[in-house]
Amino acid sequence: MYRLISFVLLAALSSHLSAQEPEKILASVFDEALSDRKAWNHLEFLCKKAGGRLPGSSASLKAVWYTRKALLDAGADTVWLQEVNVPHWERGYESCSVRSSVCGDTILSVSALGLSEGTDLKGITSGIIEVHSFEELRDLGRERIQGRIVFFNRPADNKIINTFSGYGGAVNQRISGPSEAAAFGATAVIVRSATQALDDFPHTGVTRYAAGIKKIPALAVSTLGAELLSRWLKRDSSLTVNLVSVCRNFPDTVSYNVIGEIRGYLKPDEYITVGGHLDSWDITEGAHDDAGGCVQAIEVIRIYRKLGIRPKRSIRAVMFMNEEISSTGGMTYADKALKKGEVHYAALESDRGVLSPRGFGFDASGQRLEKLKSLSKYFLPYNIRDFDAGGGGSDIAPLKALGALQIGYIPDIQRYFDYHHSANDTFEQVNFRELQLGSAAIASLIYLIDLFDY
Ligand SMILES: [Zn+2]
Repeated sequence: MYRLISFVLLAALSSHLSAQEPEKILASVFDEALSDRKAWNHLEFLCKKAGGRLPGSSASLKAVWYTRKALLDAGADTVWLQEVNVPHWERGYESCSVRSSVCGDTILSVSALGLSEGTDLKGITSGIIEVHSFEELRDLGRERIQGRIVFFNRPADNKIINTFSGYGGAVNQRISGPSEAAAFGATAVIVRSATQALDDFPHTGVTRYAAGIKKIPALAVSTLGAELLSRWLKRDSSLTVNLVSVCRNFPDTVSYNVIGEIRGYLKPDEYITVGGHLDSWDITEGAHDDAGGCVQAIEVIRIYRKLGIRPKRSIRAVMFMNEEISSTGGMTYADKALKKGEVHYAALESDRGVLSPRGFGFDASGQRLEKLKSLSKYFLPYNIRDFDAGGGGSDIAPLKALGALQIGYIPDIQRYFDYHHSANDTFEQVNFRELQLGSAAIASLIYLIDLFDY
């Protein structure tokens, strides 16, 4: 009886809130986000107290337990951990020394790629050859490559306005370069960091070895380091490089997705997921990628609770584990949902940095896309205007098979790859207002989609 009465009361309260003009609800959501500091404290903990959160590391577990408590404190009805299998890779001592009888000696800033094979402490010493594409590699052939280190030096194209596309045009060197080079007998690979920035931070990221080809050590070099190496090679093509990278692969281990849920009052068995990924690379605090996205998801729960917004559908904030290496967190979440026969209405991911919000991308077409685009009018007071097709994220992608509308949160992405996967992605690089304008925009969009059944 008590449950029934509270349900009726909640439903009445919710319909009262829903009956208010959406503009007023959105104003209160933005006010709340911009005047509460909990999100800032969460971000600081994840960056400064947990730190580089490689899947399976103690730092990542610290982040798991912290965000579990943060979701409880935010007022989620239920919070739980979901077991996820993750790879276990650890970085060791690493260095890159260049020796030239013409140019002199120097040391370059390098960082082993995730899942890379390691060397011993003496490392690999050999000649090096610069290439810009896999075609160039094939043209050179085994004769020129055998026994040498291959240096992939194709930059991200700075003329491309969409920085994700610019990154996408360069990143195959990091992902497939090691096996492409090993097929011609290369001893190791150095890859120019996939970023538009020109600085001395190496940007790491995962590499994938092809089956049946020797796994050779692979490291990213900073863009300034790549430019210097290229200049030196033009003057002295017989210079030598000593590469040391004492990283190791271990058997898979177990980690967790962290999930917090508010039950819907009308359709509790339909779910809207909002998330980011909790893991990061070890050489970085992973503030923009993607502690900020996780914090914004927690904020959705907190803001709903604080303002008494009751969603029709159940809202889940999910901190996905292991996006960076093999996305097993997202796959496990969708797999469990499928087995339980859950209905997933929509899913939103924030994983493009916590910079100033621009809008949202929707994986929709026709009438549904037009309806979603029409929501942009509610966001005009906040200078958030880009509502268009295209969007999602790697953690929520597996939910598409369950029919969930895919939504990507889109901030201003011009500076994102200055931070991405590097030691430059720190707490200090995040602006409180930008973080919270994003939290408010995400909470508002979820509210409108749930309210209007878009
Ligand atoms: Zn990310």
